[in-house]
This record gives sequence, C-alpha cells and structure tokens, in this order.
Amino acid sequence: PTSPKYELGTQFAEALPEMAVQTAAEVPAKAQLVALSDSLAAELDLDAEWLRTDDGVAFLAGQDTDAGTFVAQAYSGHQFGTFNPNLGDGRALLLGELRDREGRLRDIALKGSGRTRFSRMGDGRAVLGPMLREYLISEAMAALGVPTTRSLAVIATGHGVRRETLQPGAILTRVAASHLRVGSFQYARIAGEDELLRRLADHAIARHHPAAAHAENPYLALLDAVISAQASLVAQWMNVGFIHGVMNTDNMTISGETIDYGPCAFMDRFDPATVFSSIDAQRRYAYGNQPQIAHWNLVRFAETLLPLLADSPERGVELAEASLRRFPDLYTDAWRAGMAAKLGLAPDDVPPELLGDLMDLMTSHALDFTSFFRALARVSGDDRTPVVSLVSEPEALGAWLDRWLALGPDRELMDRTNPVYIPRNHLVEEALDAATGGDLEPFGTLLDAVTSPFQPRPGLERYAQPAPEDFGPYTTYC
Ligand code: AMP
Ligand code: MG
Ligand code: MG
Repeated sequence: PTSPKYELGTQFAEALPEMAVQTAAEVPAKAQLVALSDSLAAELDLDAEWLRTDDGVAFLAGQDTDAGTFVAQAYSGHQFGTFNPNLGDGRALLLGELRDREGRLRDIALKGSGRTRFSRMGDGRAVLGPMLREYLISEAMAALGVPTTRSLAVIATGHGVRRETLQPGAILTRVAASHLRVGSFQYARIAGEDELLRRLADHAIARHHPAAAHAENPYLALLDAVISAQASLVAQWMNVGFIHGVMNTDNMTISGETIDYGPCAFMDRFDPATVFSSIDAQRRYAYGNQPQIAHWNLVRFAETLLPLLADSPERGVELAEASLRRFPDLYTDAWRAGMAAKLGLAPDDVPPELLGDLMDLMTSHALDFTSFFRALARVSGDDRTPVVSLVSEPEALGAWLDRWLALGPDRELMDRTNPVYIPRNHLVEEALDAATGGDLEPFGTLLDAVTSPFQPRPGLERYAQPAPEDFGPYTTYC
C-alpha cells in the first residue's frame, strides 16, 4: 500500500502548553509488529494494511515525527493515598488526536516510548509481556461493553529491558477518549494560577462533557458529569468481576474510561477482599473497596475544582459536597441495574434481599463469579444441575433458586450480559509466557475468545473453565 499521510491533532499541546513537554520517542533497535487491531484501525479510519508496512510500524512507534507534535503530559496524583505532585508521563507520549469514523476525537499515545522529563529513576521502557497484557485485557473490556482505553498495536522494540531479569522491550500504541486524569487537575491546581485550572476544565468540558458548557455553573456540571461517569464505570467493573489494582488518582480518567492496565485481573472465586497486586500490601484496592475508592478519588477531584465552583470558598465546598453525596446512589443504581441484567430481570423486578442473599451465597460458597452467572441461565425448574454442580452443599442454593425462578428470568438477556470467556488469570499467564518465548499462538487464541465473550465456540471449552486446582494463589506485578 502507498503511504497515506496521517496528521495528528495538537489540541492538548496547544490548549495546555504548561502541561505538555515536547519529547521524541526513543528509536527502537529493531521494530517488529506483534499485535494490531484491524477493527480498531477501521474505527479510526487508519489503513490496517499500511500499518503493517515498515512505514506504518514507524508511525505506530512514534518514529514519524512529521505526523504530529509528541508530548509527555504533566500530572500529579495520590498513589496509595499519598500525594505525589510530580508524576507525569515517565514512559509514555501523546502523539496527538485523531477524529474517528463517528466523529469523536481520540488520543493516540504510546506507552514504553523512552525517557521523558518525568522519568525520575525509571528507564522509560515497557516490557513485552505487560504490554500484551494491557492489549488483551483492554480489548476484552471493550468487548464486554465496559468503557476503556483501547489498544491499537504492540511493537517489540528489540531492546533488552532490565527488570528482575532481562526482558524483551515493547511499545503499546494506546487509543483513549483522552488522557486527562484526576491527577491532571491536581497538577493544574498546584502548578499555576486559577487561569490554568480554568483552561484545563474548559478543555475537559469541550472534549468530554460538552453539555456542561451550557449549564448555569459549568464547572459544577463538569464535576457532576465526572461523578456520574465514574459511578457507572466502577459499577460495570463490579458487574464483570474486574479488579483494577492501582486506583491512584493519576489512573482515573475524566472521560470515564478505564485506564492504565497494570496489576489488574478478573476475580475468579467470589470474595470481596480479593487483591492480586503484589504492591497492594494494605489491600486498599481490593475488589469490594473499589466503589469507596472511586468516591475518595472524586473528592480529590472536587477539591481541585473549588476555586472555579463559586466566589466564596464556603459556597464552593457546599456545592461540591452536595454533588459528591450523589455518588453512593448513582453507583448503587448502576450496580443494581447491571446485576438485574445478569439475573435476566428488569431493575425494578429485583427484590433487594434477592441480591443481598446471592452475594452472601456467592461469598460463603466461593462461587466462580463468571461461570455461575453463565450457568444460571441454563437452570430451570426441573434441572438445577448447571449451578448445583458448582457448589459443595447444593441444598443451600435451592431456596434462592426457587425465588429467582419465580420472577421469570429472561435467558437471552442473561446470555447477552454474562460472558462465557474472560481473561482468566491462568490463561493470561500461559499466553504471555508463550509470547515472551516467541510463540504468539496461545495469545491469539485467548484474544479471539475474550473479544467475542458471549458466544460459546467449539474448541474453546478450556477457556470457559476456572483455573485448575494446582494453579494456586495468583499475584500480579506492575
Ligand atoms: P503507573 O503505576 O503505571 O500508573 O505509573 C506511575 C508513574 O510512574 C507514572 O508517572 C509513570 O510514568 C511512571 N513510570 C512507570 N514506569 C516507568 C518507567 N519504566 N520509566 C519511567 N517512568 C515510569
Ligand atoms: Mg498511570
Ligand atoms: Mg502502569
């Protein structure tokens, strides 16, 4: 294919130069395309065939410097509850913005593209295994219908990256509604005058929540919109059993997309205390804590907006508090609607005790979260074996099943809502180990399974099963 001329927009760099440090991407030793999403390329109106050529790979790796103005973005953030004013893109770059086929502006960015002004002690690089992990899990989340940044490509760089052992280096080409985070607002609040903060807020409103511009108090409307988007997002995480793992304020978007797939994982056996991340010793980001943590992060976001909310600080705090008080109900309503669909019911048809009792049963029987709901759609008045076979004391489930069956669940709704295939921990490990050793076939098969998650297919039976007993406790690393 001949070279199409793609030009990336510079809206962020132009609107917020104080938060954009022009930086070149490191030159790969030997760039090799390892993964490319044809469907996402099509969504972005990029020629996938061309992206596979040497010029295309150079574009994806940030080597075509004529394509845009590449910048490292400044941000701050609370990491595990502790404020760090100086974070920023230490191994990432924003290449620029593209308008997709639907007319939406999307960021094209790199992860693992070398050192920047924000690298501190880091090498600016990323490792192949973790970049394929982000690719796999973000694409699975998108297929599950959960708002998320997307993965367009993974490119092996040919660099050796020193971690505990020497690992193959890689770059992820990431696509996002934007990379604005709560941490971006924390940075603007302390770095400059209110004028910078106002410019950032106006940029965020124009890009993500344009209706807020017409509200009586646009910055309060921005706060409301972000609270709503995050309440809905975290409810969707809970409904699919997703554990983000590092819900620092620099990893929470203003758009409401899931971002920064590090030590994330899907819960297998239901247990609200589940933590997989090796660095989360305090269990701050456990599955069951995620709604509370999102609320805590939104309080930090509201604090940054105080100078814009009202003329007097007291009035600003009053408005922010009223707005934040909406979060628990917004979250619970979204979670309940999601759980209702998992049970094949309309939200108003689910008695609250039915859900509470189910959560208790799931916890006490350590039920596999994904298999349980999928199997439930196969249960009828005459045949309870699909779920009864999953538990050690089937009697305990009987009464609950009677109550649920009496509500007349919609099985088709359940099968559209409850996935057969998720990126199960043991399968992810197996696929990434093989890929790191040069065999991409298991990665390809798993990617196929989790990107059409609702349709069971012959030959993929093993991908629908919980981990074998001998897989043992699972730990994720950043
Ligand atoms: P994360 O935990 O991935 O959200 O990253 C937290 C901060 O550490 C961000 O400012 C990253 O840019 C930075 N960082 C993570 N890994 C590296 C690395 N290998 N080199 C430089 N900076 C890094
Ligand atoms: Mg991050
Ligand atoms: Mg990370």
